[in-house]
Amino acid sequence: MRNHRSHRTVPTIAVPIVHEREVTGFAQDDTGVDVELSDGTSLRADYLVGCDGGRSVVCKAAGIEFAGWDPTRSWLIAEVEMDEQPEIGIRREGGGIGPVDPAQGGGPYRVVLKETHVDHIGEPTMEELCEALVVAYGTDYGVHSPTWISRFTDMTRQAVSYRDGRVLLAGDAAHVHPPHGGQGLNTGVQDAVNLGWKLAQVVNGTSPEGLLDTYHAERHPGTDRVLQNTMAQIALIDPDGRHEALRETMTELLGMDEPRRRIAAMLCALDVHYDLGEGHPLLGRRDDYLVRAAYCGVEKFLWTLPTLRRSSPAALAASAPRPCAGSPSRAPRS
Ligand SMILES: Cc1cc2nc3c(=O)[nH]c(=O)nc-3n(C[C@H](O)[C@H](O)[C@H](O)COP(=O)(O)OP(=O)(O)OC[C@H]3O[C@@H](n4cnc5c(N)ncnc54)[C@H](O)[C@@H]3O)c2cc1C
Repeated sequence: MRNHRSHRTVPTIAVPIVHEREVTGFAQDDTGVDVELSDGTSLRADYLVGCDGGRSVVCKAAGIEFAGWDPTRSWLIAEVEMDEQPEIGIRREGGGIGPVDPAQGGGPYRVVLKETHVDHIGEPTMEELCEALVVAYGTDYGVHSPTWISRFTDMTRQAVSYRDGRVLLAGDAAHVHPPHGGQGLNTGVQDAVNLGWKLAQVVNGTSPEGLLDTYHAERHPGTDRVLQNTMAQIALIDPDGRHEALRETMTELLGMDEPRRRIAAMLCALDVHYDLGEGHPLLGRRDDYLVRAAYCGVEKFLWTLPTLRRSSPAALAASAPRPCAGSPSRAPRS
């Protein structure tokens, strides 16, 4: 059936967008923030929200400590063509090779490779990608024509404060962590949702400025858990015997319903609990209905993790995707 509502247009928002200029610094006073731009001009705003990624200029200029852990591992990620047919699949230490279009197969391929060292100067190169391929596979498969090459690490840090006066941080500017579990963007979007309506209330004079302090109070603790679980996932991919033992222990635990449900709720952030004081059990929480729905989806994702894929047939059978007890029979309405 034709959905007439799909033709609705998004109304234009009267927000000026400045292209091709970077923020280089700012100065704040009691009534606003002067934002300095790379072309020498400046903008005046009531508030400044730094959403400028893990190397945030705004975070640095605000003097907010980005506390945490330096990188211990580094991976290259690229989209490339290859002359030879590569070995497709996920590697034990993380990463691997796969077709960009899995349905069609063949190139171009997306490649993720662990690097032999962590300290790098400058942007990643084709030479480094070739070297990493040879280390991992014994051949570079005749790699060529990169669409892009990038690099990520397991650096794990969080701003000690999400607010300094009229300056706030959101997304990777406020927190960085290994991408394992795919939680970074999700966490940043939740920051934006939490901060957006509060900022609107304060700017419109509907709520006192103190409302902005609840942004840090609510978002920082939950993101601590994201940092913790991503660091734990990094520990699980180390290949030595002790980590192997840890992985087996985790496999056993994830074969049980309750631990698996907890981890699933944590990875999809539906277990986030904002401390809003005494009251109804759902106060400050997501609806349990959503948590159960997500559990079914994330359970399938958990099954793809190396710890489960390498486990015994019995543990695999216990953790394989299957209907969840008490799960909703249809997707929740948005
Ligand atoms: C390999 C990999 C896989 C990932 N997979 C997932 C996943 O599956 N799911 C998930 O949720 N997350 C995932 N993430 C994490 C996710 O990509 C990030 O958390 C997310 O992109 C952060 O968004 P952001 O807008 O905060 O920062 P960014 O995406 O870094 O955007 C920052 C923007 O600010 C601009 N900028 C920077 N400095 C300035 C300046 N001085 N002035 C003006 N503009 C500036 C940049 O050009 C950029 O456009 C993955 C990350 C990696 C590395």
